[in-house]
Amino acid sequence: AVVVFRDISQRRAAQDQIRYRAHYDLLTGAPNRHLLTERLDQDIAHALADGQTLAVMLVDIDQFKKVNDSMGHDAGDRFLQLAHERLQACVPEGALVARLGGDEFAIWLPRGDAAAGAERVAQAILVTLGQRFDLNGHSFWAGGSLGLALCPQDGQSASELLRHAEVAMYKAKEAGRNGYRFFEEG
Ligand code: GH3
Ligand code: MG
Repeated sequence: AVVVFRDISQRRAAQDQIRYRAHYDLLTGAPNRHLLTERLDQDIAHALADGQTLAVMLVDIDQFKKVNDSMGHDAGDRFLQLAHERLQACVPEGALVARLGGDEFAIWLPRGDAAAGAERVAQAILVTLGQRFDLNGHSFWAGGSLGLALCPQDGQSASELLRHAEVAMYKAKEAGRNGYRFFEEG
């Protein structure tokens, strides 16, 4: 009998790395759109079967380009990491805070008392994003515009809910920024 052993640790590590990059944002370590969509679609199926509601919230930082323009891209990156930490601190257990790209984050709030719960989280996020950020020895104040969509009434798939949450977020921008809006069909 001939027994051959081969150390495949490196290959396994490379595969893990590829899997990680496919599902997570490298700057913040947050799940990316792909992972969010996957998890959300699963949760929607359960929520529909159980007759429960869930909420999706889109968060876009207001005037983020000013951070990049005035303090450089590295400070902008640090700001995004801090913003992600603050969002994470506002959500209940079981929620997922994803970075969709740029200064846009999406939050999936799991099944429960979706509308009231989401509104409380939105208010907490506005408070935390409005607090001072310290970057490279400078103080910076930001804010965010938030859009909310509820399942099942505003959509029954991850892509539909995210699209409608984005519409609501742009309404919050139009209304003067630093606020939140629920999606309305009209
Ligand atoms: P608004 O108030 O309308 O949201 O405007 P804004 O200045 O926040 O700009 P907007 O949301 O339209 O665009 C986000 C900008 O974020 C665009 C791009 O220059 C910058 N950006 C995108 N990805 C990154 C990144 O990974 N790091 C840094 N530092 N900047 C990024
Ligand atoms: Mg922005």
